[in-house]
Amino acid sequence: MLSSPSTSAMLPFSSSRVRAGFSVWPNVRQLCFRKSILYGFMRMFSTPYKTLRGGASRSLKVARFCSVTNMSSTLQIELVPCLSDNYAYLLHDVDTGTVGVVDPSEALPVIDALSKKNRNLNYILNTHHHHDHTGGNVELKARYGAKVIGSGADKERIPGIDILLNDGDKWMFAGHEVHVMDTPGHTRGHISFYVPGSGAIFTGDTLFSLSCGKLFEGSPEQMQSSLKKITSLPDNTSIYCGHEYTLSNAKFALSVEPENKELKSYAAHVTYLRSKGLPTIPTILKLEKACNPFLRTSSAHIRKSLNIAVTADDAEALGIIRQAKDDF
Ligand SMILES: [Zn+2]
Repeated sequence: MLSSPSTSAMLPFSSSRVRAGFSVWPNVRQLCFRKSILYGFMRMFSTPYKTLRGGASRSLKVARFCSVTNMSSTLQIELVPCLSDNYAYLLHDVDTGTVGVVDPSEALPVIDALSKKNRNLNYILNTHHHHDHTGGNVELKARYGAKVIGSGADKERIPGIDILLNDGDKWMFAGHEVHVMDTPGHTRGHISFYVPGSGAIFTGDTLFSLSCGKLFEGSPEQMQSSLKKITSLPDNTSIYCGHEYTLSNAKFALSVEPENKELKSYAAHVTYLRSKGLPTIPTILKLEKACNPFLRTSSAHIRKSLNIAVTADDAEALGIIRQAKDDF
């Protein structure tokens, strides 16, 4: 997103600390450990949330955040906080040592994370051209010789782009299939990277936890179609989005669907995590389907809240919900 929401003040990862040259990784590790404990605690009283997150798989999800992506996969996914509320993600293939980064908004936090583990960088993957997703491209490419990958539709707008991908392409990352999905709406060249072997998708600024991206270059119809592609994936897909906006998104979601029990439970969990400075990402598709108003355009309650006609189609409803959130 281009604009920063009011939640940035609550974020634990100070960009000034990053710029001062301190690694965020020890803190992230501590947070992972704390998050594991918190999840266990939350499980005791958060029944709807527990159901949505899939019960026994919860510890795996926590482990996934802490680097171990999937017990059956050799691909690790590591979260790198950038700027005030962006997340970049490091992809590391354990077998070959191949490393990629998704949406490096700035170079230094990524360099710090790589240096800590004495790793090189082979690929830079961009979901879209906005500077807060590509700002680190040129410096990282120059330092590591990494190849920059993005949408062919945005070859003029993605700094340093080398490999052009298009909808339906299956690009191989060290033996892991990466499916390229056109997901326009936020920008016309926005793509998402789906890694079926890890049950993970990188959605950039298309799908956030409890919201979707602003429609800077696209229509509600395009965003609706993009979100539909994502919701057609398995329910247990982990969603890695570009920003930590979940807390402010929860406030809007509750305002249009205050009686949604799953949403209330998740919002309480999100509030708790953020109060402890913990990330809410990745989220899970099943949870988003139950709580995210932009995936619930047919909800009678949401339609009633926003005076959306029963005859309005899903795209029309999405446009009204998006406008209401822009004005929220
Ligand atoms: Zn953006």
